[in-house]
Amino acid sequence: APAVAFRDVTVTFPRQDRAVLRGASFSIAAGERVVLFGPSGAGKSTLLATITGVVPHSVIARVTGSVTVAGRDTLATEVVDLSRHLGVLPQDPDSAVCLPGVEQELAFVLENRAVSPADISDRIDAALAVVGAGGLRKRQTGSLSGGESQRVALAAALIGGPDILVLDEPTSMLDADGLRQVRDAVDAATRHGTVAVLLVEHRLDEYAGSRGVAGLPERCIVLGADGAITHDGPT
Ligand code: ADP
Ligand code: ADP
Repeated sequence: APAVAFRDVTVTFPRQDRAVLRGASFSIAAGERVVLFGPSGAGKSTLLATITGVVPHSVIARVTGSVTVAGRDTLATEVVDLSRHLGVLPQDPDSAVCLPGVEQELAFVLENRAVSPADISDRIDAALAVVGAGGLRKRQTGSLSGGESQRVALAAALIGGPDILVLDEPTSMLDADGLRQVRDAVDAATRHGTVAVLLVEHRLDEYAGSRGVAGLPERCIVLGADGAITHDGPT
C-alpha cells in the first residue's frame, strides 16, 4: 500500500465560505520524498491534520473522499492506531519535546509498545546517531538549543519505525545554523530508508540553502490559495 493516498478529498469547516481543501488527489509511495508548498492559509496544516486523523475524526470538519495511511482508512482507524504508522515533527522546537530528559523522550513511544529495556537503550543510540545527535543522550530537554530540540524530536519521530515522516515547517523557528542542522539530519535519516517523507515548507529558498533545488525533495505538491492542488511533479 502507498504510505499515503488521497482520493478526491474535500475538507470544509463550519462558517467558512470555501472548502479548505478542494478535490485533492495524490499518493505517496513507500520511501518517496515530497515537499508540500503553498501560501499561508492554503490548507497545508489542514492537509497534515487529515493524514494524522485529527480532521477525519473531528466533529466539526466535513471530509469527503478517502484518505488512507499505510493502507488504513483514516476514518475507520483510531488516531492512536494511525500514529503507529506516522512520525510527526511539529514547527515549534518548544512543543516538539515534552519530557524532561532526552532519554525519556525517546523511550516513551517504545515503552508504550512494551519493548524491552535493553532493546530500548540500543534503539535510542541508533536513533540519535542517525540524526547526528549521539552526544545529547544524557541532556535535559530544557537545556537544548532549537536545532538540538528538533533533532531529538526527529529521532523520537523515527524511533518507532513509521511508514511516513510528516514535517510541519520544522525549521521555521530556527536560525540559519539550526536550520542547516535539522535539514542535514532529515536528509541523513531518510536518504536510504523505506520511510516516506512529507515536508511542509513555505520558505523553500531558505530550506534548500546553497544547494538550491538539490536541497529539496525531488517531488513537489503545490497547494493554491483556493485549496486545490495546482502542481504535482518535479520540484
Ligand atoms: P496553512 O497551513 O496553509 O497556512 P491552514 O490549513 O492552517 O493553512 O488553514 C487553511 C484555512 O482553514 C484557513 O482559512 C483557516 O482559518 C481554516 N481552518 C483551519 N482549521 C480550521 C478549523 N478547525 N476551523 C475553522 N477553520 C479552520
Ligand atoms: P499555520 O501556521 O500552519 O498556518 P494556523 O495558524 O493556520 O497554522 O493554524 C494553527 C492551528 O489552528 C491549526 O490546527 C488549525 O487547524 C487551527 N485553526 C486555524 N484557523 C482556525 C479557525 N479559523 N478556527 C479554528 N481553528 C483554526
